[in-house]
Amino acid sequence: MAYRCKKCGRVWDDQTAEENELLCTRRCGGECIAESDDDPAPNKVYIELTTDCNMDCPMCIRHSWDSPGGQMSDETFDAIMTQLADMPSIKTVNFSGFGEPMIHPKFFEFTARLKQAGLAVEAITNGLVLNSEAINKLIDLPLDRLIVSVDSLSAPAGEMMHAGSFDSVSEALRILYHRRQLRHADKPELNIEFVASRKNIGQLPQLRQLSLVLGFSRIIVSNLIPQTQDQADNLLYDASCNVSRGQEISPWQPCLDMPVMDMCDESNDAIKRMIRTGILLRVNGANVSGEGPHCRFIEEGRLAICSDGSLSPCLALMHSHKYYFRKRSKRILGYHPGNVNETSIKDIWDSQEYRSFRARVRKFEFSPCLDCGGCNLRESNETDCADETFPRCGECLWAAGWIQCP
Ligand code: SF4
Ligand code: SF4
Ligand code: SF4
Repeated sequence: MAYRCKKCGRVWDDQTAEENELLCTRRCGGECIAESDDDPAPNKVYIELTTDCNMDCPMCIRHSWDSPGGQMSDETFDAIMTQLADMPSIKTVNFSGFGEPMIHPKFFEFTARLKQAGLAVEAITNGLVLNSEAINKLIDLPLDRLIVSVDSLSAPAGEMMHAGSFDSVSEALRILYHRRQLRHADKPELNIEFVASRKNIGQLPQLRQLSLVLGFSRIIVSNLIPQTQDQADNLLYDASCNVSRGQEISPWQPCLDMPVMDMCDESNDAIKRMIRTGILLRVNGANVSGEGPHCRFIEEGRLAICSDGSLSPCLALMHSHKYYFRKRSKRILGYHPGNVNETSIKDIWDSQEYRSFRARVRKFEFSPCLDCGGCNLRESNETDCADETFPRCGECLWAAGWIQCP
């Protein structure tokens, strides 16, 4: 086992727990903690600059939360800047969370400070504040990646999403792309985030055709987190997409090992029918069916900081909120192992409580509520039939692979 000193950062390889205990305080006076091979160092921080927003999308979890929220203060951001300087493994900051980061009055100033500190900076925006001046500033900084929510190219299809924003947002993206080309600038890289439901998934091909006009290089599709039963009735997950994921190959669930093939009507239809019967699909060796539940936030060393400075492991646990799933309301309690105004990110990350939580998530030691559906404990993430240690992630929509964040 390797042990890492919380004070000087030095790693001591091949130590038993007894050897470490004997030598620990004799080294530099710091405390040495067990380093797990599969616990990555933190490398990406989501910062929620504000929970305020200039839109009011029907699907937004802000409709069901009780967070007082507000804007991140200068003091909290200063604390984060100081603490990030002590964490060289963190390379990227993503301004997101639940609210519109670009309406924070210091969005550009904070971005510039992070850039000066050598960090890559990304922002997720609904795009409504992308006026001419803002576009120039984004190119001047430059912001490294701009992820713009576009999921409703026409009103009926996107009525649950970012409805009504497409005309002004697409014009702004057109200008951004044009100015980038004029200035031979390759940043900000532009991505689109598309929240999919049965009502708007058919617009994806139309959106893809706009890449050369609007200048985006990636469409990140996520699913809807429904706030009402009506929205839940339009989900694109929970049925055939969950069949066979993460299961062993067997005569009951054989693997279909496909070569790369034209996607014509005949091949599409045959593969679609096979998937519905429960198979594990591989194409040219790549697993297309998806894996069993696992958490990309924990496995990829990400963390999130709310506008009041409280730290969360992920976007799912930033705020207490509700959503609808399988004909019932599910209550999620936020989880905050510390607040950066009181304890440094590094100390929170290294705390026994937070390391134990990450270890539980990596092993995914939670009840299999997604496949069971047997009791009322599923109605919140507080406890499950395997353990009472909060929070329980067994039915997490992110870990199931249904919701994804850039
Ligand atoms: S733009 Fe984002 S934060 Fe604002 S209301 Fe819509 S979903 Fe919520
Ligand atoms: S499994 Fe879900 S709730 Fe748990 S830490 Fe990961 S994203 Fe958050
Ligand atoms: S907590 Fe309830 S729903 Fe989840 S696995 Fe246990 S019995 Fe099933």
